[in-house]
Amino acid sequence: MNFKEKIRVIPDFPSPGIRFKDITTLLKDGPAFHAAIAEFTKFAEERKADLIAGPESRGFVLAAPMAFAMQKGFIPVRKPGKLPHETISVDYSLEYGKDSLEIHTDAIQPGQRVIIADDLLATGGTIGSTIQLVEKLGGIVVGVCFLTELTYLNGREKLQGYDVFSLIQY
Ligand code: AMP
Repeated sequence: MNFKEKIRVIPDFPSPGIRFKDITTLLKDGPAFHAAIAEFTKFAEERKADLIAGPESRGFVLAAPMAFAMQKGFIPVRKPGKLPHETISVDYSLEYGKDSLEIHTDAIQPGQRVIIADDLLATGGTIGSTIQLVEKLGGIVVGVCFLTELTYLNGREKLQGYDVFSLIQY
């Protein structure tokens, strides 16, 4: 499967200079979406994941079907104020802008093996924060997977020591 040809690149979205990698064209292609989730699921199964976590919102679209396929739990990592129970939070910066992420304090039990999935690795801020949240709860991050990696932003350097997998590189 040539995954790269399934991604649409939108120049200057959401702000000038950003080349937005639009995954909706991959998601609407049934065999491509299935093949991408199958690759991620293989990665997660090999690492004996107990849980799959995904940051809002495109991470949900990837992490939830992985969890379903593996019969494992899905953990949402959300923007502030969305999760109803007790949370912990971490601040982070994006390729464009700043935000914070939250997780329910009872989402993960200490020692559980967690795979994190998201659409894209840019600077690594989002995934770095997601890793921090998982680890604060005692989870073990056994792998991180992305559809797309912007290698020129060196996000991988922030993820040294972690098992990082990406399907497409720019
Ligand atoms: P970062 O925290 O810098 O690694 O940014 C990753 C997050 O921002 C991902 O969850 C993406 O959804 C989004 N993002 C950043 N840059 C882009 C881009 N060029 N195209 C599409 N999404 C992006």
